[in-house]
Amino acid sequence: MTAMDTLKNALEASLKPTPTVMLVGLAVVLLFPVLLHFILSASTPYNTLPSVLLVGPSGAGKTALLTLYERGLLPKTEKPAPAQTHTSQTPASVELAVNEDGTSSFRDDLDASGSTAKKFLLVDTPGHAKLRRFALSRLRNIPTTTSTGKTSKAKKDSKLKAVVFVVDAAALADSDGRGDSLAATAEYLYEVLLALQKRMGSSQTSRMPSSVPVLVAANKLDLFSALPAALVKSQLETEIGRIRKTRSRGLLDSGVGADDLAATEESDNWLGEYGSEKFTFAQMLEFYTEVDVIGGNVAGDGPGADKWWKWIAERI
Ligand code: GDP
Repeated sequence: MTAMDTLKNALEASLKPTPTVMLVGLAVVLLFPVLLHFILSASTPYNTLPSVLLVGPSGAGKTALLTLYERGLLPKTEKPAPAQTHTSQTPASVELAVNEDGTSSFRDDLDASGSTAKKFLLVDTPGHAKLRRFALSRLRNIPTTTSTGKTSKAKKDSKLKAVVFVVDAAALADSDGRGDSLAATAEYLYEVLLALQKRMGSSQTSRMPSSVPVLVAANKLDLFSALPAALVKSQLETEIGRIRKTRSRGLLDSGVGADDLAATEESDNWLGEYGSEKFTFAQMLEFYTEVDVIGGNVAGDGPGADKWWKWIAERI
């Protein structure tokens, strides 16, 4: 029997309406869409959407801001939308969109206006001190090479476009700005900035990791007791400078003295311009990390949340 005959026989058998052939045919018809779904969802842009990370201490207003941008409403008279403070260990995120040139408001319905939109994910992170590792590990993540698993993770994280650090400007004003809130907020911001500095400084590949700008959103400016954005900025800079000094002293006191290793370690862990007396956010530019402080509010009467949105939209 020639190969041609074998092929013919096989074809004939497969065309006969036997139960086996019908079963196989049915299985193919049913399984194909399922398979296609998995193939497409594996490559869906949802996994690779640009993302913006919301960080900051508990109670600063991250969840309220996320809800506001998601719903597009600024509650004027009542308390802000009943957003549940996010305390679970996994981040909550919403998919948002700006128009092509980044000029649309969060109130605009882009689907209705028919304009092309740039989608992005706004990712809320738990603010509680014990749960901050999620946010910090995402910031530190450097796009490196080697194993396939690592590469895909790095790819996802190179999509991190910006960090919005939400601050309760009213809490900072309590106890003459020297309260626990200032210290705790500055401590967290210090960790965030150091993680970003290390991300930029320790690339093992020739490719620079993408820089991640930071917006310090001075929230709750509707409250008369809140500090204006300029004061939030200077208070945080002073406090971070203090933390930096304490930490470097800790390193020197660890007994290693002034040998080379200790010196390198110290400069690696020194936030901003090495050896400088005062810390300023502008020093972060040395590490390609832009830091802006803008005031606003999620609830009540005040400047609102439009400037923050504009800042984010320009960086997507
Ligand atoms: P999170 O822990 O950072 O997610 O903070 P939440 O979003 O849960 O907000 C903490 C509290 O602050 C809630 O009671 C909010 O209603 C309130 N809040 C948030 N933003 C504002 C604001 O702009 N003004 C005022 N007055 N309260 C706010």
